[in-house]
Amino acid sequence: MKLVFATHNQNKFNEVKELLPTYITLVSLTDIDCHDEIPETAETLEGNAQLKADYVTQNYGLPCFADDTGLLVDELNGAPGVYSARYAGDKKDSDDNMNKLLAELKGSKDRSARFKTIVALNLNEDNILFTGIAEGEITTTKSGLKGFGYDPIFQPKGYDKTFAELPLKTKNEISHRGKAIQQLVSFLSKLPSK
Ligand code: IMP
Repeated sequence: MKLVFATHNQNKFNEVKELLPTYITLVSLTDIDCHDEIPETAETLEGNAQLKADYVTQNYGLPCFADDTGLLVDELNGAPGVYSARYAGDKKDSDDNMNKLLAELKGSKDRSARFKTIVALNLNEDNILFTGIAEGEITTTKSGLKGFGYDPIFQPKGYDKTFAELPLKTKNEISHRGKAIQQLVSFLSKLPSK
């Protein structure tokens, strides 16, 4: 089965590819010659994931899934949430985003936070959503070089390392995206014709 993952983010693509069984041929937006920046104008993660999946289905007629992720920080009442990518401005720069978050939380005792991913699958006229959540804390400094986005300042619950210090295999077992994709895989494995 050929499935499009509606992302331009090579890090995300590699994470997800690692989790899919070999009977699924995963292709990226670049692979289908889609170089557009798909608008993410919804006010929820669910809405944005669906928008991205629908863009591919409508313009390319291919089975597709898309994800949208937010970092929800308790001390900031759930911010940056759906606005995580542009937290520090339209450049969508990860370092700027992390610096802003560290500054906002300077001196805060409660640093609890969670990543939430919604995966929207469009397959055979059906639209199905999967959710994955990873609980953790925002560290006081950046550590680690792996991963992407906010990984250097997010320490998952039960670990003394950030996502950026953990091997991809470990991140995939416990992460928001990993959990949502595991549900997607379980759903696909139950389809009559794989
Ligand atoms: P989106 O899902 O690409 O819209 O991501 C929203 C924001 O969250 C961007 O700033 C991403 O870099 C960040 N982000 C998404 N997934 C992860 C992750 O697994 N780790 C760290 N940051 C992430």
